[in-house]
Amino acid sequence: MRSGNFKTGLCRFSAAVKIIISAVIIMPAAGESLYGQTDVIRYEFRVKLNDSTDIIQGNSTATILFKERTGSVDFFLRTSDRTGKGMNVAGVLSDGFETKWSHTGDILTVLMPVEKNAGDSVHITISYSGVPADGLIISKNKYGRRTFFSDHWPDRAPYYLPVCDNLADKAKVDFIIIAPYHYRVVANGILTEESNIDNFNRLTHWREDVPLPVKVMAFGAAPFAATLSGFAGNIPVWAWVFQENREAGFSDYKPAVKVMNFYDSLIGPYPYEKLANVQSKTIFGGLENASCIFYSENSVTGQGRAERLIAHEIAHQWFGNSVTEREWSHIWLSEGFATYLTTVYMEMNYGREMLETGMRQSRTTVLRYAEKNKKPVIDSTITDLMDLLNANSYQKGAWVLHMLRRETGESNFWKGLRLYYEKFRNSTALSSDFRQIMEQVSGKDLQRFFYQWLEVPGQPELKISTEKDIKGNMSYVIVEQMQDYLFDFPFDITVKTEKGTETLTTRINGKKTRFNVKGTVSEVIPDPGTWLLFKSYAN
Ligand SMILES: [Zn+2]
Repeated sequence: MRSGNFKTGLCRFSAAVKIIISAVIIMPAAGESLYGQTDVIRYEFRVKLNDSTDIIQGNSTATILFKERTGSVDFFLRTSDRTGKGMNVAGVLSDGFETKWSHTGDILTVLMPVEKNAGDSVHITISYSGVPADGLIISKNKYGRRTFFSDHWPDRAPYYLPVCDNLADKAKVDFIIIAPYHYRVVANGILTEESNIDNFNRLTHWREDVPLPVKVMAFGAAPFAATLSGFAGNIPVWAWVFQENREAGFSDYKPAVKVMNFYDSLIGPYPYEKLANVQSKTIFGGLENASCIFYSENSVTGQGRAERLIAHEIAHQWFGNSVTEREWSHIWLSEGFATYLTTVYMEMNYGREMLETGMRQSRTTVLRYAEKNKKPVIDSTITDLMDLLNANSYQKGAWVLHMLRRETGESNFWKGLRLYYEKFRNSTALSSDFRQIMEQVSGKDLQRFFYQWLEVPGQPELKISTEKDIKGNMSYVIVEQMQDYLFDFPFDITVKTEKGTETLTTRINGKKTRFNVKGTVSEVIPDPGTWLLFKSYAN
């Protein structure tokens, strides 16, 4: 995901937008106990849209597998609020038979007619209707046309869909959308049906058989223009844009084919059946919905400015969507990866300078953030999930990967990334899972590396000074770590003397480290290759 201000790569919302979001999200976070008892195998969301009101008619069936003896199932579904927005449940079926339920405090509790044992499964069908307060954006696009777009990230689906919204509980999903003729509908997965069902409405059915986290399930309905941009291997890549942006949008989203091919060869086979790049009304700059990426409506300019945004969102198909962070505090496994892979895409397509420039910009962002936020990358104290959209998750996460690339070596690093994807594809992972894979491929103990960069706030602050030993015609470059926690890292300096220029490398892990240099040092350039996240210490 990228924030609304995607051009500058900032990862925070403006204060005004954020306050509104904080005010509406009061859904309780799904507790481990909810997920512990049940495993959702598939959701089938049937949603009827209309043009005269914002009321949606919902009929959703969840296929649930029980993991322990249980007498009821809890769904999150937003109840009506004072403004009249929210969902009203009309009835619930358990395996086709009416069953008892209650809907209070945004929790819909469905009682099982008889207690279920571990290994049993059930189809729970919920009929409901209402006006979504959020999660489904019903609005006019910039051309004044009415549109509908899911916008679930991070936990906003329950505003209009009954879900057991635990990040780790991935499920297959069907979207069956009934809408007036002038809408075209796009969603996750493959198109299985498009039928005119009466004089006014069309039914569109998209089916995704790869399990997804709820945060990236999505459908969009708008007067779209759609074209096949090309194929990445045998995967079709589509552009779905507003009809007024037919030419500009088709052109702006075309780089997606090149990006797909790039990641496919770098990381491994794309996890889904197709990719649609969709112009939308998402509140974000881009939202990486699985196989159905939503970009902000202003991402289309006709000037080909969306390439980095596209590269970021497509990287999420591998990391975030297919390999999903098991806990929100490990979100760097999603955003740090997408941020770094975008920079690598630029490096490998437009030259090494793109990597160094990108990493220097990221470093500036991280240092600025760290001045005011003494927080580690893995921060389990965050309660408002929107606060995860910060420089630690994105830019520092990217820096962790960049430094790991050096620590493990170029070929081990990419081998490790491929193996990590292969092993956790369509599943979930924690940072320790990633560490173990990288240790396996590199043969190195990376415990300290992962600890210091992910669990310790801040970064090395280095004071660099020179001393001259007149007798021996030697100089010393002294590097001193000024922060409290002493980091362990390889460090390069380029020194200029009367004898010429040379680059020296040593491992720093103590308070003071000395480089010995022949001759008189006239200049020291720290980290000439842009390989270290550090701050120059200023007195
Ligand atoms: Zn992202």
